[in-house]
Amino acid sequence: MTVDRRRILRTTAQLATLTAAGGLLAGCGQEAATGAGAPHPSAAPTTPKPGPSAPATGSASPSAGPSGSAGPSAPVLPPLAAGTPFEVVTGPQTRQQVALTFHGQGDPKLATALLEAAEQHGARLTVMVVGSWLDQQPQMAQRILSGGHELGNHTQNHQDISSMSPDQAYAEITACADRLKALTGSIGRWFRPSEAQYATTQVKDQARRAGYEHILSFDLDPRDYQDPGADVVQRRILASAKAGSIVALHMGHQGTVDALPAVLTALQQRGLSAVTASQLCA
Ligand SMILES: [Zn+2]
Repeated sequence: MTVDRRRILRTTAQLATLTAAGGLLAGCGQEAATGAGAPHPSAAPTTPKPGPSAPATGSASPSAGPSGSAGPSAPVLPPLAAGTPFEVVTGPQTRQQVALTFHGQGDPKLATALLEAAEQHGARLTVMVVGSWLDQQPQMAQRILSGGHELGNHTQNHQDISSMSPDQAYAEITACADRLKALTGSIGRWFRPSEAQYATTQVKDQARRAGYEHILSFDLDPRDYQDPGADVVQRRILASAKAGSIVALHMGHQGTVDALPAVLTALQQRGLSAVTASQLCA
């Protein structure tokens, strides 16, 4: 997506350090690196969105097929390991698992092809959705959950959230949260800032205020949004993937769709399972 190409300028200088960063940065199960406060008690009410009210409980079995029209059913998420930091950059290296996380936007045919490829390999993805995409493709929310994948919040419009005022950032986060809540019954566990690998202190504050338990960063960026070709995407992932890796990928890119089956096969050959971010940090 063209909107995401702006990340190139922002992240190019960081790329050399990304794949080596996991051991140095906060990971699931490690000591909390930052104070993880409770959601802000005085979170301002947001404009109610039309939509069915969410049931208090529900389940999304990995094997569940597409649900009917019974309304959103909030997925049950596993509790995270004690000590999971507010901003998660890498998972525990004690289990043979990785998390493939996706910028959720783009052609729904490509998105569906990615989900199907993952499901055929027994893999579960984490899709950090852009709210404006859900406005255009609301069916994708339940499609993602029905495959056993996880949904998170990647802002409403995917703009440079680090440069926004606190209230602007809060509005970007809550607008996407409202879509997720209306469509799935839950705002999701994770928030990922737009146009940034790491959340600023201010963005962290606004994510907490919006009710998010955790920020989902990543430690492996194969730069698939630059469309370098499936072979390059595959090689970059496999060169660095290891237990605990959180990989940043993008829906809406043909090269990523083409790379995924071979990536999943190679990970399996190494004994690495692709699980959701919540499973990685459970
Ligand atoms: Zn993104």
